[in-house]
Amino acid sequence: MIAIGSELLVPPRGETNGAYVTARLREVGVPVAARITVADDLPLLTAAFRDALSRSEVVVATGGLGPTEDDLTREAAAAALGRELVRDAGILEKLRERFARYNRVMAPVNEKQADVIRGGVVLPNPRGTAPGQYVEADGRIVVLLPGPPSEMQPMFDEQVLPVLRTRSAGAVLRRLSLRMASVSESDIEQAVAPLYKTYQNPVTTILSAPGQVELHLNAEGATAAEADARNEALAAGIRALLPGKIYSEDGRELHEVVAELLIERGLTLALAESCTGGLVSVRLTEVPGSSRFLDRSFVTYSNASKVELLGVDPALLASVGAVSEEVARAMARGARERSKTDLGLGITGIAGPDGGSPEKPVGTVFIALAGIASDPVKRVTFIGDRGRVRFQAGQLALEMLRRSLLGLPV
Ligand code: ATP
Ligand code: MG
Repeated sequence: MIAIGSELLVPPRGETNGAYVTARLREVGVPVAARITVADDLPLLTAAFRDALSRSEVVVATGGLGPTEDDLTREAAAAALGRELVRDAGILEKLRERFARYNRVMAPVNEKQADVIRGGVVLPNPRGTAPGQYVEADGRIVVLLPGPPSEMQPMFDEQVLPVLRTRSAGAVLRRLSLRMASVSESDIEQAVAPLYKTYQNPVTTILSAPGQVELHLNAEGATAAEADARNEALAAGIRALLPGKIYSEDGRELHEVVAELLIERGLTLALAESCTGGLVSVRLTEVPGSSRFLDRSFVTYSNASKVELLGVDPALLASVGAVSEEVARAMARGARERSKTDLGLGITGIAGPDGGSPEKPVGTVFIALAGIASDPVKRVTFIGDRGRVRFQAGQLALEMLRRSLLGLPV
């Protein structure tokens, strides 16, 4: 795997194509032997292609297919393969049409994007100008893909992977991700390690981030179906050990799952956020169709706003303080009543770094739900900086919603 581009060697630009291509190749039974990032330099690139061709059956390169002087991938790959470049009339025509559609005249430099390695197959790029190429030579496969991930990924998935899948004899790797929110990594590990350690295939890894734990089951099989079945065999055991904890197994995020549940059940929601400043609202409105359940969101930071917008009793604020179980509850109820929604959610807490006290240290958060049988309230003390506390508070609020909607204890 060769990632091409001088900009990728300068810190702020992350090289992500390599990880993407490596993961996808592994899934179709093509293990990656080496991955390098190379500057836009013809001798260096040619050497990189020669080197890769000397040890691998498949070479995938991304980037450097554009029209500018530093886009040298075609030239380098052709030189390493000992083949010439041929200007393709069909591509040239498509490039001209594309420019015409945007009312622009094509500059001559763009013509080199129509150069194809002799014997190569052109991979159309409906999302950009630079087409990719697929070349078979001397028992080797060379694939050239555009650099922008939004163009590279669909081209690779749709036009390259299916071919490699039929050609590879290696074991297929499949991953199943079981996601959980607001649980502790050690609790999960303790519950499931005795089971997954008895399996050599799949191999299980546990990944944790604030507010989130994921179990990755990685199974190998002769076919995708066989690998999936191996993952499923272990997953069934894990599910039984973690009842109600797994919120998704298909890559969906917690807010997507909650949004779908709300839509399914035809329930409406109003939010009252203090320390999270609208984070939960942002996450829920990322989901298409969120207007079907989210009525409104109050970001009530000051005491006055909690009184004015949510009808929280000023005497309550004066006696127990804004960060309290009582105020969280009053916020959830106020949001629900003022919006006439089925459900109300209230979040109040101390995100830090200042504002803590011995009784309510930084990280203390109260979350309340109104409109659900038990009207649950939770008090938690999150560890971490301001960003972590805020994210975890939002995550727990969403997890409480999910559990309530599923009728699980909150
Ligand atoms: P274009 O016609 O868009 O110029 P190209 O094939 O020449 O296509 P590059 O110029 O190499 O592509 O890269 C374009 C942009 O794509 C880069 O600025 C970078 O943002 C992104 N990109 C390229 N390679 C990678 C990579 N390996 N990982 C992540 N992003 C990349
Ligand atoms: Mg370019």
